[in-house]
Amino acid sequence: MIISTKKGTPQEELQKIISGFEAQGLEVTLIRGTDYNVFGLVGDTTKINDKVVAANPWVESVTRVSAPYKKANRLFHAADTIVDVAGVKIGGKENVVVIGGPCSVECEQQAVDIAKAVKAAGGRMLRGGAYKPRTSPYAFQGLGTEGILDLVKAREETGLPIVSELMSEDRIDEFEEYVDLVQIGARNMQNFQLLKAVGKMKKPVLLKRGLANTIEEWIMSAEYIMAGGNENVIFCERGIRTFEPYTRNTLDLSVIPIIKEKTHLPIVIDPSHATGNWRYVEAMSLAAVAAGADGLIIEVHTDPEHAWSDGAQTLKPEKFRQVIDKCRAVAHVVGRDI
Ligand code: PEP
Ligand code: MN
Repeated sequence: MIISTKKGTPQEELQKIISGFEAQGLEVTLIRGTDYNVFGLVGDTTKINDKVVAANPWVESVTRVSAPYKKANRLFHAADTIVDVAGVKIGGKENVVVIGGPCSVECEQQAVDIAKAVKAAGGRMLRGGAYKPRTSPYAFQGLGTEGILDLVKAREETGLPIVSELMSEDRIDEFEEYVDLVQIGARNMQNFQLLKAVGKMKKPVLLKRGLANTIEEWIMSAEYIMAGGNENVIFCERGIRTFEPYTRNTLDLSVIPIIKEKTHLPIVIDPSHATGNWRYVEAMSLAAVAAGADGLIIEVHTDPEHAWSDGAQTLKPEKFRQVIDKCRAVAHVVGRDI
């Protein structure tokens, strides 16, 4: 809900209006102009009667914002949010950040070797799953804590911040202690209990889009995290489910300008899970950077044919380097760097 007050409204009247809304449990954001003031109300505004608010002689207009998200809304936060992940900044006019690493952590040596290769190619963060959301209960489920500690070792060796997926609340302390960027996977995008818990965390969050979720549902999931107090959310598009079987998912690149228009949060693209095929990863990476993505998250393995998960969509380090080099050229065209 947006309320604007008349030109010359005295300070004490403004304060009365603000206190009135705050007393109803709403958060008030004041945008002060030279001639007018505009309030954005965050919270449950359903209990507010527009006509009663408009009856105040100092109120110029009362507008209900149709979008149900507030904290993520560009309207109340014009500037791009730049998320700092252990010193690596994502968003705004910052460089495009490339994250690389295996689908699953397999052992310490594998994590360290891949981290070194990712860094040498120009990657700025290491990804790796230790808790894996697998379709089959008989498939490899991840190394758990041991995998997280392998990533920590790889970070010690390379200085790369680490990204890993959190699947349940009972691992929050572990992630708060060891992981730099907490990934919420596609399958948990609407696990509202988990989102609320992550909203209380101090670490930034990489929020993947659900398998078949609308953009608004996705933004509302970010809103859950932000409403809990954690405003460092990065969106990640990883393809959505359509009728098309030639690719694992259908990469929806239109979300890049839409997320940037509707929200102030950064967005990264995952061309690996989006296509399911390493051959298409380069083309989709180039397209994503051209469309304004703030980052890429790509699966990389020194031996994809023997990777414990997602080998078919995984790049070898040399190919990863080529993709980064080509993306850098595209980044220059759109006024950024890698
Ligand atoms: C992953 O990044 O390893 C993963 C499981 O991705 P998604 O949640 O997008 O399927
Ligand atoms: Mn994977």
